[in-house]
Amino acid sequence: MSIASVPSTCFDWCALAEQALAGEVISREAAHRVLAAPDGELLEQLAAAHRVRRHYWGNRVRLHFLLNAQSGLCPEDCHYCSQSKISTAAIEKYPFLAQEDILAAAERAHSLKAGTFCLVISGRSPSERVFSQVLETVRQVKARYPMKLCACLGLLDEQQTQRLAEAGVDRVNHNLNTSAAHHGDICTTHTFADRMATLKAVQAAGITTCSGGIFGMGESHDDIIDMALTLRQLQVTSVPLNFLIPIPGTPFQGRQELTPTQCLRILCLYRLLLPAQEIRIAGGREVQLRQLQPLGLYAANSIFIGDYLTTPGQAAQADFEMIRDAGFVLEDAEGHELLAGPGTL
Ligand code: SF4
Repeated sequence: MSIASVPSTCFDWCALAEQALAGEVISREAAHRVLAAPDGELLEQLAAAHRVRRHYWGNRVRLHFLLNAQSGLCPEDCHYCSQSKISTAAIEKYPFLAQEDILAAAERAHSLKAGTFCLVISGRSPSERVFSQVLETVRQVKARYPMKLCACLGLLDEQQTQRLAEAGVDRVNHNLNTSAAHHGDICTTHTFADRMATLKAVQAAGITTCSGGIFGMGESHDDIIDMALTLRQLQVTSVPLNFLIPIPGTPFQGRQELTPTQCLRILCLYRLLLPAQEIRIAGGREVQLRQLQPLGLYAANSIFIGDYLTTPGQAAQADFEMIRDAGFVLEDAEGHELLAGPGTL
């Protein structure tokens, strides 16, 4: 009898957790079983994912803070993105922010107990003028705040990643977004191979990589599994998992393929396939997980606090209360439990 056809009452979710903890890759068949499981097995799945999560991350939650330091005006055509050249979404558009504005955002991130400040700019790749400004800003932020700094700057070559390393960037984000097979359906102005090349350039410079994806864009279960296996093969350190916010004015407006329980199954699968990685519930947490957001923490160990790139997140106080009420504690930039804990602003 194949795994996919095992009656639900007999399926051994614990065995998958044990495989993951032993460093084994769960089979594609088992991965399909995770994604296709009935809602009635969700708590057992979460318990298995939580066993793995707890082994590597205890009950700690990492907070990241996003700043969109340059918005809109992008020549690319990523269909999910409100900042692309083909989007008519009503968003604020602005060039690279003044350094004082970025330092003010870093101060806010620090006050919200974020361990990582994520500096993001729109665009295919940065101009030399903007790139130089980014380097100087990174030095200023790093000199003032004890946070990790993650830069998300589009496509980068090895010379650029080397300069980012010298400026003190701890991590670079560049999402794969989906599988190699599905990438052409979500973007035509650059390729999956372009994205892979940037991740290789980041690793060549000795910077840790942050890369994840977006779900709810028409991908199959195989696409979801393939992206996880690619991220595992790349040994990516940090994995943001976004659930599509179908922003009006983008080609994916109105698309609604996800349910809260399916989002949780995806989080469980990624924990089982990427057991030791930092897994972050990223954009779309409030929109797609809705009332089930706290359950996501049983698989993931990280969230964004504050707003997303062009859409608002829920209030920071609500996040603190969610973390505290579910029995989790905050973690600082060095991975230590924050003694004050969540719950106050
Ligand atoms: S995701 Fe990045 S590269 Fe793609 S359209 Fe948006 S800003 Fe441009």
